[in-house]
Amino acid sequence: MANFFKGDLKIIMSKEIPYKIYLEENEIPKQWYNVRADMKNKPAPLLNPATHEPATLEELEQVFCTELAKQELNNDDAYIDIPEEIQNFYKMYRPAPLVRAYCLEKALDTPAHIYYKFEGNNTSGSHKLNSAIAQAYYAKKQGLKGVTTETGAGQWGTALSMSCSYFDLDCKVYMVKVSYEQKPFRREVMRTYGADVTPSPSDTTEVGRKILAEHPGTTGSLGCAISEAVEKAVSTEGYRYVLGSVLNQVLLHQTVIGLETKTALDKYDITPDIIIGCAGGGSNLGGLISPFVGEMLRGEKDYEIIAVEPKSCPSLTRGKFAYDFCDTGKVCPLAKMYTLGCDFIPSANHAGGLRYHGMSSILSQLYDDGYIKATSVEQTEVFKAATQFARVEGILPAPESSHAIKVAIDEALKCKETGEAKNIVFGLTGTGYFDMVAYQKYNDGLMTDYVPTDEELEASFAKLPKM
Ligand SMILES: *Cc1c(COP(=O)(O)O)cnc(C)c1O
Repeated sequence: MANFFKGDLKIIMSKEIPYKIYLEENEIPKQWYNVRADMKNKPAPLLNPATHEPATLEELEQVFCTELAKQELNNDDAYIDIPEEIQNFYKMYRPAPLVRAYCLEKALDTPAHIYYKFEGNNTSGSHKLNSAIAQAYYAKKQGLKGVTTETGAGQWGTALSMSCSYFDLDCKVYMVKVSYEQKPFRREVMRTYGADVTPSPSDTTEVGRKILAEHPGTTGSLGCAISEAVEKAVSTEGYRYVLGSVLNQVLLHQTVIGLETKTALDKYDITPDIIIGCAGGGSNLGGLISPFVGEMLRGEKDYEIIAVEPKSCPSLTRGKFAYDFCDTGKVCPLAKMYTLGCDFIPSANHAGGLRYHGMSSILSQLYDDGYIKATSVEQTEVFKAATQFARVEGILPAPESSHAIKVAIDEALKCKETGEAKNIVFGLTGTGYFDMVAYQKYNDGLMTDYVPTDEELEASFAKLPKM
């Protein structure tokens, strides 16, 4: 980094490849791509927590909107039409640019070509809006009054609030208490869009009261906020529950990221060697890689795909591939996934929104089948990479996205060793303006890393449901 611009202000940009590869409005995808159709080993079905039988449409539609429950169960249709109303909303902030990180390449002095797909160009500041608008649309179309959800870092709650106000739906958000306190401005954005925001665990639900009684002083977790949101939805007439990650339907909606990325790369005949994304519940990574994994599954192409997770919440790299509850209150269906156990609560000092105990069943299956790799990184090195990136590329990245930046930089530096000009593509999922408490900690040298011990994980695994 030290040599950047020293004595040489020139950035060499190729004549062929622009700094930003923009698509036309009519190149925004009109269909989502359902990678499950091409998977030989389908992701394991959701199970009814009481009977351990595969959850049926009738059961799922008690909790989820009917059309979304159908998408959840659809392993067969490779392409699903995006309704025109959703396409129109996408036009507000899509297509998202694919940026060639010329300045970062120079700063790293690497022969690698680095590209990032930037999903932070909307008020919610992340890719989550891609699914939020779809979920709000199907709820509205079904004639519901409103939806409930949880939010961790706050991006999902914000995206859903925006989407619900657009379709004039009621929106009740359970926000993990630690974020509610650390990110008061996120909360205000949600309220500005008309959402009702409650810190979780709360005394507004039975499960919240139970968790509060068992763990007084808890800072909350996603798993626990999910339980509260589900309870609220099923006990309130005209409401359903919506979720911002993990589920098959969410990953499906997020394939707009990968489809646009592929169109942009194809325009310039660029073949990625490495595709990198951060993995919380797996929706952005799943969406980014789906069209590429599809080619792998059909035996057409091969790519190196890397999922990056925090060392503080390492579901792929240290978790078990097993059926587990999606929530602490054990009210949701069981999902087979890489999991740390539904009672696992990552250390509160971890800033990012990658704190979920499990991982998308689709990604879990692809990982188990060897189509993708996974690695984990520590928080301080992530913020170092975020800062490096911000200083030369301009965008202040979200801490979550910076996990991908960190590994993209590492891969680019490996290319410097070997002299290879690999094409590295990573997902820049959002901006970090609401994460300044974490940036402040990093800038003040007060940020710490926390890595759970094997004993902690074993204790959590011991509570996995017996199948
Ligand atoms: C929520 C979020 C993530 C992680 O969620 P996934 O479902 O794994 O994509 C990553 N980046 C940002 C900016 C987010 O808001």
